[in-house]
Amino acid sequence: MADYTADVIVIGLGPGGEDVAGTLAEAGLDVVGIEKELVGGECPYWGCVPSKMMIRAAGALQEGRRIVELAGTSEVHPDFSVVARRIRDEATDDWNDQVAVDRFTGKGGRFVRGEARLLGADRVAVGDDVYTAGRAVVIAAGSHAAVPPVPGLADTPFWTNREAIAAKEVPESLIVMGGGAIGAELAQVFARFGSQVTIIEGADRILPPEEPEASQIVTDVLTAEGITIHTGQFASSVSHDGSEFTVTVGDKQVRGQRLLVATGRGSNAPALGADVLGVELQRGFLPVDDHMQVVPGVYAVGDIAGQGAFTHMAMYQAGICERAILGQPGPGADYSAVPHVTFTDPEVGSVGMTEQQARDAGLTVVTGSTPVPSTSRGWIHKVGNEGIIKVVVDADRGVLVGATSVGPTGGEVLSGLAVAVRGAVPVSTLKNMIYAYPTIWRGIEAAIQDTGL
Ligand SMILES: Cc1cc2nc3c(=O)[nH]c(=O)nc-3n(C[C@H](O)[C@H](O)[C@H](O)COP(=O)(O)OP(=O)(O)OC[C@H]3O[C@@H](n4cnc5c(N)ncnc54)[C@H](O)[C@@H]3O)c2cc1C
Repeated sequence: MADYTADVIVIGLGPGGEDVAGTLAEAGLDVVGIEKELVGGECPYWGCVPSKMMIRAAGALQEGRRIVELAGTSEVHPDFSVVARRIRDEATDDWNDQVAVDRFTGKGGRFVRGEARLLGADRVAVGDDVYTAGRAVVIAAGSHAAVPPVPGLADTPFWTNREAIAAKEVPESLIVMGGGAIGAELAQVFARFGSQVTIIEGADRILPPEEPEASQIVTDVLTAEGITIHTGQFASSVSHDGSEFTVTVGDKQVRGQRLLVATGRGSNAPALGADVLGVELQRGFLPVDDHMQVVPGVYAVGDIAGQGAFTHMAMYQAGICERAILGQPGPGADYSAVPHVTFTDPEVGSVGMTEQQARDAGLTVVTGSTPVPSTSRGWIHKVGNEGIIKVVVDADRGVLVGATSVGPTGGEVLSGLAVAVRGAVPVSTLKNMIYAYPTIWRGIEAAIQDTGL
């Protein structure tokens, strides 16, 4: 047992914590960074990066299949080992974080591999060692795959995102429990590689937080690609007979070689003893003020702060937290224009409020939309052009408060919409600007016109 001191202790070195720890160390503070698994966190090893490599590979297969409608003939022979190898060689270094550890220590940080437990607002234990922070403790311990208490499930060899990302082979059949972003993305990947996929979603539609139009388009595409989708009923039991899973949904029994549980993320705050801070967790997540402070001297960033489980959220909050700790606080966090993208094909990008959220907020809501196939570029694109651009306007202020962009480049088209929402660009300005021809984002102009404003 030993006692150590530091200016700042950072718990968890995922995208949020790695940024805070590295930046503060570079700024000359004595920083201890504690990580129990891999420096870099979920995103590079089991999340964003490898999943997008799988999506890129599956997209290439689908483009090959589309050649017949555009350019001749093609034969596509999926080989999952190519992307499985790429994930090992290029994304995860075979789940080795030495490069990231060296990057942090190279900035002057002190690295500790181990599981941190909070002892108080300025004290953290790792095994028998105790670290005391002179200036701040930053909690960036992220989230984990939440596993619902479905009878029988815990006793089966189900997958979470981690096993799905590490898969070397495509299962003959796959049941995906949860039709959110992660479930929908991975369902489409495995289906395009030849798996017989069934999605089970308890809500009445997949991608429930998105605009209903977006859910419908993705439902239609996934269904056309051979995926079976059950909505409106939660799984009531799960069993595994040694070779096959059976999931009961209502009066149906769904069978599959593998079961992927993608039913959301749970906070890691309870596991690290955050109760010693004396704050009430919100659905397990740490409450933070506009400068990411939980209680004086304790900050939280990223998934664990409960404002949205996105890497860009973790990085945004990291910057705010760094400035606060360095005594240079700028503007506080602004969540009025949080963008996020579901990387299905078509991609679903959205920012700010959905129509329903705007109505619930009591705004005077006017919406407008345009189908992507009706834009010139969408029409030219032809096969694979499913999509919509929808804008949500606060008519009293004459500004966009939300927008959704579904389409082959839905996430990229979102950028202009995100600027419009964040910058509260007047609708009159959006009506009187020039949209390049023939882009899909010309559909923004048509959607604005559709509002009638
Ligand atoms: C399949 C999948 C796909 C995704 N795709 C995207 C995407 O396309 N775009 C996007 O923006 N986001 C995506 N995400 C979400 C993104 O990965 C997370 O929002 C992001 O990783 C959160 O960063 P973080 O720093 O808050 O936490 P994490 O990445 O969860 O890192 C937290 C770190 O803390 C460590 N830790 C936890 N407890 C302790 C402890 N007690 N002591 C020491 N260390 C501890 C963990 O080991 C981990 O390394 C995806 C997630 C998944 C699962």
